[in-house]
Amino acid sequence: MPIIETRDLRKQFGVGDVAVEVLRGVNLSIDAGEFVALMGPSGSGKSTLMSIVGGIEPPTSGDVMLEGVNISNLTDDQRTLLRRRRIGFIFQAFNLIPTLSALENVSLPLELDGVPSRIARERAAGALERVELSHRANHIPSKLSGGEQQRVAVARAIVIEPAILLADEPTGNLDSRQSERVTALLRSLAADHKHTIVMVTHDAKVARSAFRLLLFRDGMIERDVHQSDFEHGFPAGDSGIFLRPNFEQLNHEFPSGEKISGKVASEGNR
Ligand code: ADP
Ligand code: MG
Repeated sequence: MPIIETRDLRKQFGVGDVAVEVLRGVNLSIDAGEFVALMGPSGSGKSTLMSIVGGIEPPTSGDVMLEGVNISNLTDDQRTLLRRRRIGFIFQAFNLIPTLSALENVSLPLELDGVPSRIARERAAGALERVELSHRANHIPSKLSGGEQQRVAVARAIVIEPAILLADEPTGNLDSRQSERVTALLRSLAADHKHTIVMVTHDAKVARSAFRLLLFRDGMIERDVHQSDFEHGFPAGDSGIFLRPNFEQLNHEFPSGEKISGKVASEGNR
């Protein structure tokens, strides 16, 4: 059973003349333990998809099933609990509380859920250890680098041990060195088989660390490529062109200029 499934998911903003259909029938199936990168032009609906999958906002129509449960059948309270206990969110802007230390930021989701303070802090310390930031536990965010702040945000997301991690451009504000570290961290979390990760990214290098690539365009999934479809992992840039029967050329260029190309198994070959 897929851990995340969407069925003909549609989202419209506005009504009448100004109505915009941002999601135009998204059908998605992600198994437990997958690490999926979602790429697509700005404004194509990626963040909207993430917030609907995470139960933050409702779709206009269609269904989201998480762990086999249709989330639109839940009450608001049940949905809040689901978000609080089963889903970790990571955002481009870190969204840490500036007046709280790293440790306090990480323990907050547990304390909000009623976990006693002492236990919450112990678990938060454990999460900070997993992101290799124990030595920064008592620093407030402004005393940390961008990469460190994002690792604190990752610790805050995983402290609840969520089944699903949704990361919306987690490396968008980081330089390439910090970006690599956060990406490696997400990959190791996925490899631990404890979390299923969906990560939006504009960076083909970051996307390459995932096991599967969804190319999103105009509110729909245009391509769904698994790492095993490539002969030698995901290609990035112009690298990784291979010739093999029944493989077709994937050449995807986004308006921003990023490009993914390589030979992938053609649909008929799957
Ligand atoms: P992406 O993350 O791929 O850049 P978004 O999901 O943020 O795209 O946005 C897709 C489109 O939906 C954009 O045109 C955006 O302006 C529009 N949009 C997003 N949220 C809202 C909203 N709350 N009200 C109206 N339009 C919105
Ligand atoms: Mg976005």
